[in-house]
Amino acid sequence: MSENTLVKRQFGHRARLALSPAEVSTADAQAHAARTMWNLLHAWWQMMPKDKRTLSNADAAIRQARKDIDFLAVLPAQAAQAVLKTYFQAWKNCWNGRADAPNFKGRIRSVMSVDVPQGRDLNIKRVHRRWGMVNLPRVGRVRFRWTKNLPVGKQADEDHRITGARLVKDALGWHISFRVMTQEPTPTPHTGPEVGIDVGLTMPLALSDGNHQDHGRPARLPDGAADRDKWLTPKEKVKLLRLEREAAHRKSLRKCGEETPRRLRRTYDQIKQLRAKATRRALDWQHQTTTYLARTYGTVVVEALTITNMVKSAKGTVEEPGKNVKQKAGLNRSISQEAWGRTVTMLAYKVAGYGGTLAKVPAPGTSQRCSACGFTTPGSREDQATFVCKTPDCGFEANADWNAARNVLHLYRIGLVAIPAAGRCSRQACKRVKPAAAR
Ligand SMILES: [Zn+2]
Repeated sequence: MSENTLVKRQFGHRARLALSPAEVSTADAQAHAARTMWNLLHAWWQMMPKDKRTLSNADAAIRQARKDIDFLAVLPAQAAQAVLKTYFQAWKNCWNGRADAPNFKGRIRSVMSVDVPQGRDLNIKRVHRRWGMVNLPRVGRVRFRWTKNLPVGKQADEDHRITGARLVKDALGWHISFRVMTQEPTPTPHTGPEVGIDVGLTMPLALSDGNHQDHGRPARLPDGAADRDKWLTPKEKVKLLRLEREAAHRKSLRKCGEETPRRLRRTYDQIKQLRAKATRRALDWQHQTTTYLARTYGTVVVEALTITNMVKSAKGTVEEPGKNVKQKAGLNRSISQEAWGRTVTMLAYKVAGYGGTLAKVPAPGTSQRCSACGFTTPGSREDQATFVCKTPDCGFEANADWNAARNVLHLYRIGLVAIPAAGRCSRQACKRVKPAAAR
């Protein structure tokens, strides 16, 4: 029977690690060594003549460096190999036009991470309802937060297992990302209704059937500026303002060339933690909403927007300065904050997982056209929130975002599909997208 066919599914699962201060410093040292390894490799690559830039030469260079340089030896051998693999992949991504050329990684801006490429070394075990244990090379056996049923122990076999992991540090400390491989039955085709979705200016997600999704946080402050901290509570906003003032004050006292004082670093960390909290809340809302949409609707239609172009266009160039720069910049910021691209990415795999279809339609004009009569008449879009059709005998009046969502669905129904976007995307990503490996 076709319903019982299994499909391979690979996904990542991220869990928080509980490390002691000593373990944290070990992991930190490993991450710094991994970054240094990358930088040395990049320097080696630039120095070598073209015909000598081979994987085996690079491997030999890495082995020698691990022998010669003490602080590189703290990095487990497999993690060093993973750096090499990632570096070569970064070049492949560049040659295929997916990314810019790899570059040196700075101490401040790069994400601290260490690879654990072999899943069998991890020896994961669930020890408590909320905790699991995992072996990390040279760190030891540590606890992690158990929030998802992972295929470990007796549940693991050739098709259901953890194939590797990666340690990543963010403002909240060290986390572990497991690479999970499972087999799942093919989803039965979703028979739910069709829906068009528009990323709104007055609401986060406008749906063509009126079932709009809102997180109840206004995108704008009362004076019209974009509210970049809308995911924080009023109390947290006050705290953030205080911390930012404190940081600015301490920074002004610092003399040029001095090391950043410990108190200032602590303030920076606190700011980072607040921002990370806001990001987590936004991400949580996005996950819940996209899951709900994928479960409810059989066909989801979205605009094929190019966010980078929209966001880039505000300032213009020196020869041709942009118009309404300030208003547009505010608009850009609210678009960037709603993270529409990420919503579409989530929808793509979730809709496919529930057996539905995600379609993208070409965007131009959806916010200007009337969804009742189909004409684009100048002045119909009265302001950001209201759409009143100025075509004689129509007079359709609605929320502007809702009108656009209805247009998106209509474009799909008349067959104007740009890219069938469900499931894995096989087309090449545009030039500006950095591959996961190079981040
Ligand atoms: Zn009309």
